[in-house]
Amino acid sequence: PSRVGAAAKRPTRVATVSWGGKAVQIGGTHPVVVQSMTNTDTADAIGTAIQVKELAMAGSEIVRITVNTPEAAAAVPAIREQLDRMGIDTPLVGDFHFNGHKLLTQYPECAQALSKYRINPGNVGGGKKREDNFAQMIEVACRYGRPVRIGVNWGSLDHELMARLMDENSRRAQPWEASAVMREALVTSAIDNARRAEALGLPHNAIILSCKVSHVQDLITVYRDLSARCDYPLHLGLTEAGMGSKGIVASTAALAVLLQEGIGDTIRISLTPEPGGDRTREVVVAQEILQSMGLRAFTPMVVACPGCGRTSSTFFQELADSIQSYLRRQMPVWKTRYPGVETMNVAVMGCVVNGPGESRHADIGISLPGTGEIPAAPVFIDGERTVTLKGDTIAQEFQQIVEDYVER
Ligand code: SF4
Repeated sequence: PSRVGAAAKRPTRVATVSWGGKAVQIGGTHPVVVQSMTNTDTADAIGTAIQVKELAMAGSEIVRITVNTPEAAAAVPAIREQLDRMGIDTPLVGDFHFNGHKLLTQYPECAQALSKYRINPGNVGGGKKREDNFAQMIEVACRYGRPVRIGVNWGSLDHELMARLMDENSRRAQPWEASAVMREALVTSAIDNARRAEALGLPHNAIILSCKVSHVQDLITVYRDLSARCDYPLHLGLTEAGMGSKGIVASTAALAVLLQEGIGDTIRISLTPEPGGDRTREVVVAQEILQSMGLRAFTPMVVACPGCGRTSSTFFQELADSIQSYLRRQMPVWKTRYPGVETMNVAVMGCVVNGPGESRHADIGISLPGTGEIPAAPVFIDGERTVTLKGDTIAQEFQQIVEDYVER
């Protein structure tokens, strides 16, 4: 992977989120970190630990869990313990709203089992209480040496700040549009609260910022502004991105623009799962965005043609899908056994129109014959045509060829 074509990452401080011997660096020239969040009830320690493990195995480098009740806070040490027992050292982040000051101070073992705290300054109370509650959480972070993400959200903006900015705006000769005031409130809230946290003793390099909104253009505008006004590492994500392809497309459209400009140090893709859907999907999508842009590599990529009237069966789509799934399943072992394997390209093509050419460009490619032709599929390795596979066992034989290539 390289940043060819993309702007260099903007210079930021580097925050470290660690657990045991594992240290995830966020910011500076470090690769963009992939993170995700559970949707289990955190009070269910076993269910949550299982989902954290699934997300970690899928490639989530940090996993956030909601800590919203005393029962949830009490369960956090048990979740951490179970993960440690399973050999999962992925750092856990606690997501706090409304009662975070109470939970972090009343459950010190929870505070210690978490590697980072996410605080939403719009949800910590109002007036004097707001200042005290925020200060209590920052004091806990200082005591245990934990970094904090100050995560401002469009849906829970600080009302007092918003009212003040609206008032200031009404006195401008040319008032801004309401949406511009809202964007300014997001950025101001994030930076002001970060400075406050520093004044309370939290080191500059222990602060990460995010300003999440649910519209693509707003997100791009807000993060460009935020990036120009501070050097804290930034967590990117389109909040409430939505379900299915809409969520994926909107997140990709927003994040790709920012990442291309060198903005963004860690990302989360907030997808609404289908009922019974796989939570790890958001991790795969985050990885695919970064890998498609050439910013990071996580797993060998399969190039497949879309198919057309020249392909009468779905065999080649099934082959492409099974090879991609196979490669992804192998990665937990392969990535330590065969360093660099994640940059490999595999082509699965439907017919001779683009099949041989695309297959030659890949490390390994197979060009299926298309409609009505002899079921024979030439395989290309490192640009050279090698064997031709025939019959019902093409899929198994091709998988074996890929495995042999990786081992070699
Ligand atoms: Fe159609 Fe062949 Fe192109 Fe695939 S490679 S889209 S089957 S023409």
